[in-house]
Amino acid sequence: MSAAKSSTGTGTIATADAEPYRGRFAPSPTGPLHFGSLIAAVGSYLEARVHRGTWSLRIENVDRTREVPGAADLIIRALAALGFEWDGPIVYQSDRTAAYLTALDRLASAGLVYACSCSRTEIEARLQGVPSTGDDMRYPGTCRSGPRHPERALATRFRVPPGSVRFVDDLLGEVSQDVAAEVGDFVVRRRDGYVAYQLAVVLDDAALGITHVVRGADLLDNTPRQILLQRALGLPVPRYAHLPLAVDAAGAKLSKSAQSVPVDPSRASALLWEALDFLKQSPPDFLATAPLADVWTWAFGHWDLSRLRGQTRGVAPAGPT
Ligand code: GLU
Repeated sequence: MSAAKSSTGTGTIATADAEPYRGRFAPSPTGPLHFGSLIAAVGSYLEARVHRGTWSLRIENVDRTREVPGAADLIIRALAALGFEWDGPIVYQSDRTAAYLTALDRLASAGLVYACSCSRTEIEARLQGVPSTGDDMRYPGTCRSGPRHPERALATRFRVPPGSVRFVDDLLGEVSQDVAAEVGDFVVRRRDGYVAYQLAVVLDDAALGITHVVRGADLLDNTPRQILLQRALGLPVPRYAHLPLAVDAAGAKLSKSAQSVPVDPSRASALLWEALDFLKQSPPDFLATAPLADVWTWAFGHWDLSRLRGQTRGVAPAGPT
């Protein structure tokens, strides 16, 4: 995976009215809203609003095994208390199974997926001594011509074409990844029957007509996989902007550190101020204690995504959020 670090982007940050703008925020209900996901909410919301676009809220609970009961409602209530206003009904991935299965059938009819019986341990054993450049455990293609153990519960993998996938991120510039070499054929349906995030997100973004995806840089290396699925299914490829990942002072990803505490919506103005500060918008100090509506008004008038160009991480505030 490579991003053009020295790039200052492409200068193509969309100008208002160029096309209808449809953005979204898509939290996974694995816990209450924390500062890292607040950043994605604020960034995607302001970007949509300054482009006079729509902003949808989608609860990404496709992986029911990771869903924490009550977390979706906590996230929704925190967003409402912070003054976010989403367009249309909230979408739940758990309601979208039929659409996912139809797409899987299409991929199967086109010969673009195959059944795989490999366990994690078997993949690890096969990869022993094989250097990997990717973060994920690269799949070596063992079941490409048929599952080794057809009697087992089978996963479904996407047959990744060779070559690099390139896209231009509105903040990070040109990004390219050789998915075949770094990730290999990836899972689109797990062996427990759940559709994988990569496929669900692509189908959901297309169903909502999303034109711009603004989300955390922790998802950057998923984007080339998602683009491959969009191409395979003949779906439009949205523009992408990946926001800096919130880390603690020691550089650890927020979700893995003590700072991954739920945000406290009773501090709404201060919280929004902290998010704007993290997002390099330089909010004036007095806003931290101003009425929430004033903070939003200031944000709508001053939001400039390009201030984040080239940044992949940022340090989250140390105090309570
Ligand atoms: N559900 C993912 C998360 O909470 C975000 C997916 C996306 O924005 O594409 O990290």
